[in-house]
Amino acid sequence: MNSLPSPILIAGPCAAESREQVLTAARLLSEQAGAAPIIFRAGAWKPRTSPRTFQGLGAEALTWLAEARLLYHFPVATEVATPEHVRLALAAGIDYLWLGARTSASPIAVQAIADALRANKQKPLGVLVKNPVNPDPELWLGNLQRIASADVPVIAVHRGCSHRPCWSMAHKVRLARPDIPMLLDPSHLTGDAALIPKAVQKVALLALDGAMVEVHPCPADALSDAVQQLTPDAFCSLLPDLQRPADENAQLNWYRAEIDELDDALWDTLLQRLRVCEDIGTWKKQHHMPPLQPERFEQILHARKEWGSQHGISPEAIETILSAIHSESLRRQ
Ligand code: PEP
Ligand code: MN
Repeated sequence: MNSLPSPILIAGPCAAESREQVLTAARLLSEQAGAAPIIFRAGAWKPRTSPRTFQGLGAEALTWLAEARLLYHFPVATEVATPEHVRLALAAGIDYLWLGARTSASPIAVQAIADALRANKQKPLGVLVKNPVNPDPELWLGNLQRIASADVPVIAVHRGCSHRPCWSMAHKVRLARPDIPMLLDPSHLTGDAALIPKAVQKVALLALDGAMVEVHPCPADALSDAVQQLTPDAFCSLLPDLQRPADENAQLNWYRAEIDELDDALWDTLLQRLRVCEDIGTWKKQHHMPPLQPERFEQILHARKEWGSQHGISPEAIETILSAIHSESLRRQ
């Protein structure tokens, strides 16, 4: 079986929008990426949420990718969502295929693609499987298994879920299948070009195997995902970070990524709680009630201590944390 490049660096527009756009993106990347071995990507079929948005230009776009491949000596990649896409893409000489997050949500669609891959004479150099839109590590693992059973090299792509990174999902998949390369897709993970330079640091920090990044010659004019696409120039300035050796504390960094995401959720919940407390404060004032109702606090504390005893959290810890939250709530009332 062929070997995959290391690191695996995939760049190119979210969607192929015209022959000129595809060839311009490919030319700029080939001029600016130096010796970095880029796999050039562009979507021909776009599984968009709304039918009123740009859906991709279909099979015609594959011929532009094939032209870019010939002119600039890149392997090329496109998204497939049906067995027919697989046949058309492989017949057009596309090297790598990827399954998007929406396709990954359907095991039936993934199995149909695996069957088409197995039946097709030409084989891709690799098939990338994005995480499903719902944060389900088992479904992602099942998809990787289905595609691998077609005897093609598989690569996992972590793109997060609805702008939440879902590091714990990716960590579970990494631990379960350390033999499968995993890439980061910082474009869909962040949904924001300004956040991508920080996000790509995770490639080395978590010892990932590369990245798939959306790169458009003129992001502001893009017909899909305009805010998250980088210019070729901006992408190339990230290449040193993308080619950095893996951090020696990668295992610890995975846990830290999970903790940071949980802390974000915790503080966000706390902020929402404080805002409700402000509304309660206004209501109490209107009804001439004092801000502090000691019996209500005692009830909450008692119930939480009981819950804590079921989860191995000491009553002292419950009291300290709840008292701190309560005093800040009172202050804001
Ligand atoms: C894409 O890579 O262009 C794409 C549609 O990604 P996702 O499936 O992750 O949304
Ligand atoms: Mn996209």
